[in-house]
Amino acid sequence: MSNFEIKAYPEMWQSLDIDVERFDKMRIMLGELYEKTFLSQENRPAAMVYFDNMVAELHGGRIKELLAAKEDGRPVIGTFCVYIPEEMVLAAGGICVGLCGGSQGSIPDAEKILPRNICSMVKSAFGFKDGRICPYFQAVDFVYGETTCDAKKKTWELLDQMVPTYVMEIPQCKKPRDIALWLEEVKDFKAKVEEVAGKTISADDLAGAIQIMNNKRRVLQRLNALRHHKPCPISGKDGLLVEQIAFFDEPVRFTEKVGELCDELEERIQKNVAVPAKNATRVMIAGTPMALPNWKIHNLVEGAGAVIVNEESCVGTRYFKDLIAENVSDMDDMLAALTDRYKEIDCSCFTPNDERLDQVIREFHESKAQGIINYSLQFCHTYNIEEIRIRQACEKEGIPYMFIESDYSSEDMGQLQTRIEAFLEQIGE
Ligand code: SF4
Ligand code: SF4
Repeated sequence: MSNFEIKAYPEMWQSLDIDVERFDKMRIMLGELYEKTFLSQENRPAAMVYFDNMVAELHGGRIKELLAAKEDGRPVIGTFCVYIPEEMVLAAGGICVGLCGGSQGSIPDAEKILPRNICSMVKSAFGFKDGRICPYFQAVDFVYGETTCDAKKKTWELLDQMVPTYVMEIPQCKKPRDIALWLEEVKDFKAKVEEVAGKTISADDLAGAIQIMNNKRRVLQRLNALRHHKPCPISGKDGLLVEQIAFFDEPVRFTEKVGELCDELEERIQKNVAVPAKNATRVMIAGTPMALPNWKIHNLVEGAGAVIVNEESCVGTRYFKDLIAENVSDMDDMLAALTDRYKEIDCSCFTPNDERLDQVIREFHESKAQGIINYSLQFCHTYNIEEIRIRQACEKEGIPYMFIESDYSSEDMGQLQTRIEAFLEQIGE
């Protein structure tokens, strides 16, 4: 074991009006959890060092970069959802960051205000802002919210009392009139970003940003395809970590570093190096996003000797499976192409959402998994109800399937471990 620690920047935190004493305790706990979860793995790819350093600097180095951008008048926008048109922020010279929403530690703060029976991600994120224990929340110019689910939609109104929160309407159907509305919303978001940046986004700016984001998605697709190799050259925990860091890191640097990791994984495949054990049972995860530091299911599955080879999730394929067409250069055509790409994201907030059923089955076969664990956060109505159709689709295809509904607490760990071990026994070769 190394002496890993997430670096402390108390003076900078103070200047961001953070509850420094409390945040520092969380920093130490997160560092310990990280060390136990990731650094205890044997034979990790050397290129993971970059991502370890990203975590070490999560509350320091990266925040400094955000503050420097703000000094230059570049917008810094926080988000929770993959529907944010990130290209628009990049095109204005700005930075888009995922906000913290994956920790149990901030939930008691939220439950003093919000109802308890809403999903952990919403409560965790709200608690981070209310408790002043997230430097990202403290650094952003505004938060991007959307209308994907009721819990978020109504929470934005309260969050807006603490930090400016811009809400983009995401329709819930995909009929032509819904797409027309969506396009108008994209144009409004462009105007909002331009207002904060104090500049007009040109067609060249947007084309450049589309290219950067497409390259980022391409490299994540490449990593995902390498994880599908049998035997798997990287653990599911490390795969998930890279996907989670995608929401924090600078996109060009991130793309380069994931590319280096992929090069190393290709070499491993040639040398038949597998992490973990070569005959590990292969599992695919489907369902709700796993925001950093939600590593609960991966810990349990890989702790039982299996390997996770794919995440059909907003931290996984839903984030990077679709690219924006690059063969258009006129602003109106680019905005239409961008909207077209975002409408391909198959979140369960849409109805009908048949394309997600097909996508889950396709990813199961592509990843050469032996079973699917469908994971939904407790109280997420759309994913919990869509679970029924995912189960039906898996039954029809003869795919071994298990559903887990959980939250961020550790209370159900024992029960989940028993269920997961029984499932792995059932599907193992
Ligand atoms: S599950 Fe839906 S609402 Fe949640 S982050 Fe993904 S796209 Fe957004
Ligand atoms: S997991 Fe479900 S309930 Fe939670 S924020 Fe996402 S869509 Fe909403």
